[in-house]
Amino acid sequence: MARGLFITGTDTEVGKTYVAALLAAELAAAGCRVGVYKPAASGCTVAPGDGTLPPGTLVSDDAVAVWEAAGRPGELDRVCPQRFAAPLAPHLAARAEGKPFDAELLRTGLDYWTAQSDFVLVEGAGGLLCPLGAGELMADLAADCGFPLLIVARNALGTINHTLLTVEAAERRRLPVAGIILNTPVSRPNDPSVAGNPEEIRVHCSHPILGEVSHGGPLPESVRRWVRDMTSG
Ligand SMILES: [Mg+2]
Repeated sequence: MARGLFITGTDTEVGKTYVAALLAAELAAAGCRVGVYKPAASGCTVAPGDGTLPPGTLVSDDAVAVWEAAGRPGELDRVCPQRFAAPLAPHLAARAEGKPFDAELLRTGLDYWTAQSDFVLVEGAGGLLCPLGAGELMADLAADCGFPLLIVARNALGTINHTLLTVEAAERRRLPVAGIILNTPVSRPNDPSVAGNPEEIRVHCSHPILGEVSHGGPLPESVRRWVRDMTSG
């Protein structure tokens, strides 16, 4: 049975994909067969007409990034089977484009990866309470995937509130939380909250902060050790 993580964020554009790609590369380097799965992506772009993909094919940059970091396992098309162009919650993007949105495929698309992988990284879209249709949130999909949550948070002013809200939403739904990774954006080098955010989150949160990543930088040793422990245990 493949193990895995469901990577969620405290907001959109906090660095889920960046952290997922670092983890995928670390797992692959440790000899793991890594699966990467993005159940749905919006804000996708049309592939360049260079003949490698059929004209009009939508490409998820997130899917490509994690797939390449994992060493290109399986088929790229299976990394993110449901891709939409509009930068909206996935089911709203589908509606705006007159395309079907397949709630079942969100779940069954994972089977391809669990069947051939030792460890699967699932990257959600948006945050934990991103809607996925009537009466369904990303948290419901995370519960069905069955992997513990890895929460990626933007290390910037506001992250204490965002992180604690995400943790509370997870706990309320009894979703296990593996830990939190803080990602410091390069665009806010003079944010005085950055240094104190980890400690302030620790005071109010029982889940571990696994480490801090500078966006564009490598995984810190604390997270690399955590990955090695996960794969050896
Ligand atoms: Mg992403």
